[in-house]
Amino acid sequence: MSAYPQAGQLVLVPFGRREVVGVIVSVHADSDLPLEKLKPAIAVRAQLSPLSPQWLALCVFAADYYQRPLGEVAVPGLPKNLRALKTTSLDKAIKKLTANTAVHDATPVAMPILNLEQRQAVDTMANSVGFAPMLLHGVTGSGKTEVYLQAAAKVLEDKAAAQVLILVPEINLTPQLEANVRERFPGVLVATLHSGLAEGERMQHWLAAHLGRARIILGTRLAILASLPHLKLIIVDEEHDTSYKQQEGLRYSARDLAVWRAHQLAIPVVLGSATPSLESWYHAQSGRYLKLELRERAVKDAVLPKIGLIDLERRAPRELMTEGVSATLITALQQRLERGEQSLLFLNRRGYAPVINCDACGWISNCQRCSAFLVLHKLDHRLRCHHCGYEQRIPKSCPDCGNVDLQPLGRGTQRIEEGLQTIFPQARIMRIDADSTRRKGSAQEAFDAVHRGEVDILIGTQMVAKGHDFRNLTLVGVLNPDTALFSHDYRASERLFAQLMQVAGRAGRVAQKEGGSVSEVLIQTRFPQHPLFAAIRAHDYQTFAGELLQERQQANFPPFIYQALLRAEAKELKTALAFLQQATTCVDTDGITINDPIPMTMTRVANMERAQLLVECTSRPALQAFLKQWTAALRALKTRVRWSLEVDPVDL
Ligand code: ADP
Ligand code: ZN
Ligand code: ZN
Repeated sequence: MSAYPQAGQLVLVPFGRREVVGVIVSVHADSDLPLEKLKPAIAVRAQLSPLSPQWLALCVFAADYYQRPLGEVAVPGLPKNLRALKTTSLDKAIKKLTANTAVHDATPVAMPILNLEQRQAVDTMANSVGFAPMLLHGVTGSGKTEVYLQAAAKVLEDKAAAQVLILVPEINLTPQLEANVRERFPGVLVATLHSGLAEGERMQHWLAAHLGRARIILGTRLAILASLPHLKLIIVDEEHDTSYKQQEGLRYSARDLAVWRAHQLAIPVVLGSATPSLESWYHAQSGRYLKLELRERAVKDAVLPKIGLIDLERRAPRELMTEGVSATLITALQQRLERGEQSLLFLNRRGYAPVINCDACGWISNCQRCSAFLVLHKLDHRLRCHHCGYEQRIPKSCPDCGNVDLQPLGRGTQRIEEGLQTIFPQARIMRIDADSTRRKGSAQEAFDAVHRGEVDILIGTQMVAKGHDFRNLTLVGVLNPDTALFSHDYRASERLFAQLMQVAGRAGRVAQKEGGSVSEVLIQTRFPQHPLFAAIRAHDYQTFAGELLQERQQANFPPFIYQALLRAEAKELKTALAFLQQATTCVDTDGITINDPIPMTMTRVANMERAQLLVECTSRPALQAFLKQWTAALRALKTRVRWSLEVDPVDL
């Protein structure tokens, strides 16, 4: 007897000339549609338990909230192999998972003794009933991971078959966490979900989660849309991180969906960070989220690093600069080398130099297709645009005047690496950035080498700033944070603060060794008086966040208002602007603040001119209602302008 199809089941359906996979969203016994308009499904995957109604509801919510079609939410998260519905491989995979009858033993091993604040946090998480959003505000190195693991242990031991989802912002952070989790729970099947998995692995892990076999699921933002039938706890580590926001297609925030999903399932959700997003901080202040604090470093006698500023503007005594590194910082590096300790230099700019120019005529390496410079990548003898991917050989002479003496301007990580190698020829220097880690697995190898102590000085972009627990690092140098101090984006200072606190947090994670250095952070800046630095030096997130929130309230910025951003791109800027202008009049905008259409800060990318229109409202439901109408009206315009809408935009 063939079972009647159910909502949540996967089906193979004809679509034009192709066969595609679909999810049954609902089942109707009778329909008004004429029969000849309906096509039969080719196959129903009945051996796979249906996706749950809660999962479908999550997809419906996300599609509605972010104003995208349901299929775009529900289908991409399904493993490709599953989409192709190759029966044999699916059957095999299911069999392999379910035949594995080994009893899942959730008993953790070797649980370190928690300190008082950690204990309180774990107890609160484990004892909470129903929907319980919590903000775990713990300074860097305060042992948040330990809190997650022990809270997970409690949930797994209390609730038969319970699943725990732990999200991290970056793929690079999954191996370290995965190793911790596997070591702690040797009897538990752990699944990982991120974009770095091969198709076969992805299918295995997704199935393990969907069939409830995997009890702990680690993943990046996409994991929030996974099918997890027994989900009982969600943890979002480094919740402030903007990587949780997808920047194309379905522009969702995995952190926000995590809170929604927890609410829907009536389970606890933990947002953890040393530098929470202002949105989450605001909710914690207002009592909507329960605030849990870890004020001290967890390792005995480890203390937060001393933070110093190196004033690059002061006239006398002037800092002597060598290869972009100040004399003070060089001395500090020298000390670490002598003592066998590690240092980290942070510079959020990859490549050798951000631009090259000709002194004779003023030519400079602009990208022909973007309002951006071509970045010098000296090692590959290329100039590259980081925005459109255009690249070319480094010209031998100036394209305008023929001068052969073209000069790099400014410094990227490659140039710093080269410079440091001349300053410290004996030092083992390693650079970690998107360029040095293109090969699959190479980032992990690099981080492993640092952990094994095979590196004296690590140079890196934001890739090295987050999450990593470097045990022998006593010095962090920040080379050039200044550009972010005066950005147009009101979120820039929040972000810079978080970034500096995070990178500073990599130092001093163990107690100072006898004869060892006091761990310190040295920031090179031309604006030492900037209030942001005072807050950083005091490790004072709380005061800084309070001030920023006040500013936001006065200026009517989020979280005091809700926003959506309509972006448009066209061959000519005026076309994009005209479209946005038209967009302001195509529906009733009562109660909604419609700002003027403006060119984006980086106007041109890949020969397209880009403009944006910000809409705001003090009520989220009112904004949602408006957006629904608006997107329908915009689609009906059938414009040739490419447009996209971002709800709760993070980049303005
Ligand atoms: P965070 O995520 O808050 O930055 P981590 O979780 O990386 O901090 O913890 C920092 C270090 O403290 C880790 O090496 C961890 O093993 C250690 N640690 C955590 N909790 C304890 C504890 N209760 N006792 C001793 N060491 C701890
Ligand atoms: Zn020239
Ligand atoms: Zn370009």
